Amino acid sequence: MAQALDTTAIRADFPILDQQVNGQPLIYLDNAATSQTPLSVLASYEQYYKGYNANIHRGAHKLAREATEKFEAARQNLARHINAADDREIIFTSGVTDSINLVANILSLSGEITADHNVIISGLEHHSNIVPWQMLCERTGAELRVIPILDNGTFDMPAFDQLIDKNTAVVSVNHYSNSLGTRNPIEDIIAAAKKVDAYTCIDGAQSAPHERIDVQSLDCDFYTISGHKMYGPTGTGLLYGRTQVLEKMPPWRGGGEMIKLVTFEKTTYNELPFKYEAGTPNIEGAIAFSAAADYVNQIGLENIAAHERHLAKIATEGLLEIDGLRIYGTAAEKAAVISFLVDGVHHYDLGTLLDQMGVAVRTGHHCCQPLMARFGITGTVRASFAMYNTEQEAEAFVKSTQRAINMLR
Ligand SMILES: *Cc1c(COP(=O)(O)O)cnc(C)c1O
Repeated sequence: MAQALDTTAIRADFPILDQQVNGQPLIYLDNAATSQTPLSVLASYEQYYKGYNANIHRGAHKLAREATEKFEAARQNLARHINAADDREIIFTSGVTDSINLVANILSLSGEITADHNVIISGLEHHSNIVPWQMLCERTGAELRVIPILDNGTFDMPAFDQLIDKNTAVVSVNHYSNSLGTRNPIEDIIAAAKKVDAYTCIDGAQSAPHERIDVQSLDCDFYTISGHKMYGPTGTGLLYGRTQVLEKMPPWRGGGEMIKLVTFEKTTYNELPFKYEAGTPNIEGAIAFSAAADYVNQIGLENIAAHERHLAKIATEGLLEIDGLRIYGTAAEKAAVISFLVDGVHHYDLGTLLDQMGVAVRTGHHCCQPLMARFGITGTVRASFAMYNTEQEAEAFVKSTQRAINMLR
């Protein structure tokens, strides 16, 4: 049973929320684009730059040792957070985009994927989980196949069963859709991919803030999350990769840190995870990302998700009373994301008016142009909830939306 959140106490940890926008109290509902960061994450930055800023894994001095210890402790903490079997399976990246590019590049460099193969993604993907695979297909000659999306914003699973075959090399899909909120049946997708020995890659950008991730029970080869969507800093993220897969794959980026021995004739590569971390990483970012995971765990992911679902229900019920308003993404299992359009009103105009009322939402295609094309639209207005949003905000958002629509038509 989930526990109710004390949003007053939580909001005190997020000073950014306590401000006026255009003379109105800010209502921040753009959490699927980026979430705000609590004081503990900010404090971690300050401690680092005031106390132990140094490059890691090399200096002989105290600061370098301390920075290395904290950086590696962050890796261990995040490994535990997603239940990885081994810390070496956690590669620090700058986010999901960076991680998927890493996966697609090492798979294409491995030589394992040829023109006989196919790669399966879905019609619900963010551009970050489309373009790197298109690039892989261009390089290898493999075919890109796309799971069609049903009208309610879910995968057409019978169509997926038709698409997957013994030549499927990779299946890469998102856990939750950023534009519609749908939770995808990744357990079934992974099971089907394993039957044909395909690699599995899951884009977890939108799951990390709402659901406990267990990469061992999912049994996928790759799983990736961005720090800035789970209350951490921008430019941080991780790629989980199964040890046996990462070990046999070639490195991608070359440089310092990823090597064991360099001569002009031949370079030998470092072991995991360093083989995939060329150059000085975002050291403090990784440490702050880990602090964000601690914050989320202290509140409890189950409690957070229940709270957000409650707010989304209030907002959804309120919005559906508005004449001519349509919600895109009506799956039974979805995150607290509401994507909608109103007859005769452009999404951009509605977003602009909401901003004037202090309400921050996202408008446009949400980096999912093919999905928008599937629905024959150019974009939606998207409201996405986080742990610090309140019932009053959900209600005020509905009222402001109604007012804005009245002004526009
Ligand atoms: C945000 C997002 C991405 C991209 O993440 P970055 O942090 O911008 O690299 C990819 N997929 C989904 C589902 C997202 O929501």
